[in-house]
Amino acid sequence: MSEYVSRLIAQVKAKNPSEPEFHQAVEEVAQSLEIVLERHPEYRSAKILERMVEPERVVMFRVPWMDDQGEAQINRGFRIQMNSAIGPYKGGLRFHPSVTLGILKFLAFEQVFKNSLTSLPMGGGKGGSDFDPKGKSEGEVMRFCQSFMTELFRHIGPDTDVPAGDIGVGTREIGFLFGQYKRLTREFSGVLTGKGLNWGGSLVRPEATGYGVVYFAEEMLKVKGQSFAGKTVAVSGFGNVAWGAVEKVTQLGGKVVTLSGPDGFVYDKDGIRGEKVQYMLEMRASSRDRVQDFAEKFKVEFHPGKRPWSVKADVALPCATQNELNAEDAKMLLQNGCMCVCEGANMPTTLDGVKVFLDAHVLYSPGKASNAGGVATSGLEMSQNSMRLPWSKEEVDHRLHEIMTNIHRTCLETAEKFGMPGNYVNGANIAGFLKVADAMMDQGLV
Ligand code: GLU
Repeated sequence: MSEYVSRLIAQVKAKNPSEPEFHQAVEEVAQSLEIVLERHPEYRSAKILERMVEPERVVMFRVPWMDDQGEAQINRGFRIQMNSAIGPYKGGLRFHPSVTLGILKFLAFEQVFKNSLTSLPMGGGKGGSDFDPKGKSEGEVMRFCQSFMTELFRHIGPDTDVPAGDIGVGTREIGFLFGQYKRLTREFSGVLTGKGLNWGGSLVRPEATGYGVVYFAEEMLKVKGQSFAGKTVAVSGFGNVAWGAVEKVTQLGGKVVTLSGPDGFVYDKDGIRGEKVQYMLEMRASSRDRVQDFAEKFKVEFHPGKRPWSVKADVALPCATQNELNAEDAKMLLQNGCMCVCEGANMPTTLDGVKVFLDAHVLYSPGKASNAGGVATSGLEMSQNSMRLPWSKEEVDHRLHEIMTNIHRTCLETAEKFGMPGNYVNGANIAGFLKVADAMMDQGLV
């Protein structure tokens, strides 16, 4: 590692203690950028990377709400406005008890590169709360969302910052948030994406992240002259991203054999398709946060407390959450013949896990490239809102497919140009960085 990069990483760690996920995300990107910073001393002297690791703004606030028993509850709300060099801040809101400032900073940092890769004009942001939706009634979720927006509304806007969903935030929550924003501002605008179809949402947005992951993986497989037809696929998670991915893999002739939740994983040797895919939506809507229900309903194997990386699969799609796949898991996947790992979640693989995949030269793509289809389709929703005209399903899906194919090509071309052919990690980090860095150079020291 160059002295410049190791000093930068040490500074980030010293300045942001207790934020290990943020350190991890910065470390991965900074290592990829070593060669760029060497070739372009102008980025070093303009302190571009030093600026990119410091959020433009962080908002942290109290979210008080009343539960169904009439007891007051207090959560913590956040919005990280990370970088606006190429467009308004854009990124999801996560409602999960694991949410901390460090988690959201890592997600916001990743989002900057991801949004840049989509080629749409979107800066990077992320937000959320440590609110736990598990077991909450609809009334509780609504009161929480209304209270959250009562503070957040003054910091966002259709040309300022456009939040969307992430873990724990789907169309229902976006609806409650949107309703409260509209009430407070007296404005009907495209301030949030992932909206309902009747009030400004885009067709294909719910499926977009999962479909995008599979479109990207399809391009990766093509590099080796292969396709999804006849492939066995291990998927983790059971939420929005996993759901879209399972549906698309099945359409392309692959067989998905696993899903996972915080309680363990299910193994379905016959493949998850038809009503089983439908049931994933029910599982998510139930707010029980468990996949054992799936195993019981369809009488398939359930492995409590385990992750799905020990099964035999040609392709792995980690679609659950950060750091769900470590070096040991990576080795197990390779031993079982896995040839392609395409991330649907944000940073699901630990740094040692990434190293295992890169050293083995298997097809491996980081989430910021392969899961960009969700935010890309949010960008398409913003375009439709600005035009005040909706596009057809075919139009949105076609654009999503084209964006994913372009990101895939950009990653490979960039990796090649910098002398690391086939390295999607470096390709994604460098290409994502260059567009934002050049915009920052153009805009002066801000
Ligand atoms: N939460 C998603 C992501 O991680 C989507 C964000 C958005 O649509 O703004 O990219």
